[in-house]
Amino acid sequence: MISSQFTKENGGEGFDPEQRVVSSLTIDDDEQENTLRPHTMSEYVGQEKIKKNLEVFISAAKNRGDALDHVLLYGPPGLGKTTLAHVIASELGAQIRVTSGPAIEKAADLASLLTNLEKGDILFIDEIHRLNRNIEEVLYPAMEDYSLDFVSGKGPMARSIRLPLKRFTLIGATTRAGMLSGPLRDRFGMMLRLEMYSSEELKRIVMRSAGILGVSIEPEAALELAKRSRGTPRIANRLLRRVRDFAQYENSNVITLAITKKSLHLMDVDELGLDVTDRTVLEAIIDKFAGGPVGLDTLAAATGEEASTIEDVVEPFLIQLGFISRTPRGRMCTKNAYDHMGRVFPE
Ligand code: ADP
Repeated sequence: MISSQFTKENGGEGFDPEQRVVSSLTIDDDEQENTLRPHTMSEYVGQEKIKKNLEVFISAAKNRGDALDHVLLYGPPGLGKTTLAHVIASELGAQIRVTSGPAIEKAADLASLLTNLEKGDILFIDEIHRLNRNIEEVLYPAMEDYSLDFVSGKGPMARSIRLPLKRFTLIGATTRAGMLSGPLRDRFGMMLRLEMYSSEELKRIVMRSAGILGVSIEPEAALELAKRSRGTPRIANRLLRRVRDFAQYENSNVITLAITKKSLHLMDVDELGLDVTDRTVLEAIIDKFAGGPVGLDTLAAATGEEASTIEDVVEPFLIQLGFISRTPRGRMCTKNAYDHMGRVFPE
């Protein structure tokens, strides 16, 4: 396995963009993610503003003996939305039920989830923007009045029935707050936007995860991993696991800076955390479209990527780096991107 994980062939034939080592989405080798999840607010690194807010609201809810207001967590994948929902539940001493927008197929499924909640319980709906609109409507009275409305009978005999629910807290997570309907968005008492993490914060996450995995890592090596993790804990933890495997392969019981750099080089992850996919997109804009502007669909066709992958997974970090700008006429590469790719910027 080692050889297939650590060759540049990963970027060649048979390369699955969904399985990129720097993808912020979960990939096949992320099964261990649960063991690395922090359980308390104090273990949860970074996001200081959000934590402060939540601490105030959690303690107020506990003092009142009431459920916490509904919370919407939004931001790119891998930043810790699911983890934070679990942390909130454990800080409240509440039970948490976990589901996701696409997993709820019928309004009745959601109704049965809701009626089974006890007072103070948390219902976590991941990817809440993917809830079907007619299912979503079940949530409105549930969130606002803690009740379910449904119609019994047909035609002139139809009657509207209201069923009371226990006071619960809905925590919704989404990568696309803009795709949430107005009525749903308005029913959240708190909308919290997760930010990308600093290298120092990611270094703390890497050091903590190494401790849980039982491996030694030099602080400089942890910082190097942090810098190449695109501000995303999921990627930091994944790179750590890959580098740990590489250290084992090299018969080293410590992850050193040299081992880290060597394995990242073999994984084709550059100093900024960019991989083949990122570079393909940048190269396409620079070389095929003279730096842009180029529309998303044209760019997708030119790179062989899905437009949604470019938009959701590749582009956010390139924009954050200041490599790509979005204009009304399409995407453009900036001078920073030209410099990074070793091209001359046309003045
Ligand atoms: P999301 O739901 O936003 O996609 P997750 O909550 O699943 O992200 O987080 C991905 C992984 O990153 C988790 O396994 C967790 O171990 C780690 N992680 C996320 N946020 C933090 C944090 N603030 N501190 C420590 N580890 C974190």
